[in-house]
Amino acid sequence: MSTSTAPVADSDAVGWRFDNTYARLPESLFVPSKPAVVREPRMAVLNFPLAEELGLNLAALASDAAAALFAGQALPSGSFPIAQAYAGHQYGGFTMLGDGRAILLGEHRTPSGQLVDIQFKGSGRTQFSRRGDGRAALGPMLREYIISEAMAALGIPTTRSLAVVTTGEPVYRTVPQRGAILTRVAASHIRVGTFEYAARRDETTLKTLADYAIERHYAELSDSPQKYREFFRAVTERQAALVARWLCVGFIHGVMNTDNVAISGETIDYGPCAFMNAYDPATVYSSIDHGGRYAYGNQPHIMQWNLARLAETLLPLFDSDPDQSVAFAKEVLMEFPARFEKHWLAGMRSKLGLTTEQPDDLDLVTSLLDGMQKTQADFTRTFRSLSREQPDDVCPDGAAELAAWTARWHERLQREGQSLAAVRTRMRKVNPAVIPRNHRVEEALSAAEERDDLSPLHRLVDVLSSPFDERPEFAEYEEPPADESGYHTFCGT
Ligand code: AMP
Ligand code: MG
Repeated sequence: MSTSTAPVADSDAVGWRFDNTYARLPESLFVPSKPAVVREPRMAVLNFPLAEELGLNLAALASDAAAALFAGQALPSGSFPIAQAYAGHQYGGFTMLGDGRAILLGEHRTPSGQLVDIQFKGSGRTQFSRRGDGRAALGPMLREYIISEAMAALGIPTTRSLAVVTTGEPVYRTVPQRGAILTRVAASHIRVGTFEYAARRDETTLKTLADYAIERHYAELSDSPQKYREFFRAVTERQAALVARWLCVGFIHGVMNTDNVAISGETIDYGPCAFMNAYDPATVYSSIDHGGRYAYGNQPHIMQWNLARLAETLLPLFDSDPDQSVAFAKEVLMEFPARFEKHWLAGMRSKLGLTTEQPDDLDLVTSLLDGMQKTQADFTRTFRSLSREQPDDVCPDGAAELAAWTARWHERLQREGQSLAAVRTRMRKVNPAVIPRNHRVEEALSAAEERDDLSPLHRLVDVLSSPFDERPEFAEYEEPPADESGYHTFCGT
């Protein structure tokens, strides 16, 4: 192990207010683990607006020595670093997992009283690392930073990214890369896979975890006589809403294994995720997703499958009679498609500026999407364009198709008695002008990785922080790529 020579700031000056509620749970749920010493921590990107929201001391963070803090070289008082145990179904197969390259420092109390996990990703080996090195490469950590912050700006529940530091040490993947550590902020890191792990231990562990998750994320259910049943229904509802939000912005998670689904309802674990350009429900970017299991349009179905894995773990808590438990689980799982469609249709209505519900809304939306698919129209630009007075030529081959559909849509708006100007203003607040386009993300990552140039990243993060604004100086970020054939994303190790 190398010795750090970097200056270490006073970690307590940062203003963390730690508690360690998770570390007080049964010992089988975690293993105490310390971040590794790293050679030369250097700040790559620090999220000042988020730091401010968390009530941190911005002056202390602005110092050169802050990099060492975000590399875990001085632990804040009150923190108690642990690696969390969990399991999961990966591509359908069950595996024991756990934080192999992440360390939870504890939970920080924000000025508004919220408890948030502070986690380092890439800070060295833990008992769960198996053959992995516990490290992370700069590219994937910056990728998580860019996309999670873009999701937050789009108003979608997500874990956040507070900082990325480089470690001054190489990590060996197919080629050597620069090592980095991401500081992640999350409502919690309790996953469907955490329940899968606990259920395989024993019922007491399972019940304790469920009580903890309810208290932390669904406190309104704490006193309910049927609280485990209501907990499952509430998780289902949040996940239905979340996937609907993803689909409404063209987001593809890329690796919806059950260990990558957070009980809180936040989007978590940004690996091979990407935003779709041309609309096609079969879109897949992940280099390993050959069967399209995690394709854009398959995400609601996979979420339902993941929730079935959660239900299996909770069966003993639903009812003392196993048949009753299974019947209840089935009933809630069967509700999922309708829950999802309710959220998705509400999202699509609002993307089209509609304020009332009409029986033919589903048909109106699907006929637009069918036309877009046929003409390979860009998802984001098409909706943004509909909110303009002079729509762009978004799908040249489908101009006639779009014109016929637009007439139908205008007629529908007229029935609502709405002025087109008001509709367009509203639509511009829900249809982003800019999303993290894959080619822009790659451009920012390669500048950082290959030339140590972080300016494209900072510029991209800036543009994505106000995705509904059209800023002329950033107009090029609205453009789809000239050609995206062969573009692949990779699991973020
Ligand atoms: P992920 O693909 O990030 O969802 O990770 C799946 C599992 O592999 C988790 O248990 C991670 O902790 C573990 N893992 C991923 N990368 C590494 C690594 N470099 N070293 C050790 N464990 C890892
Ligand atoms: Mg994961």
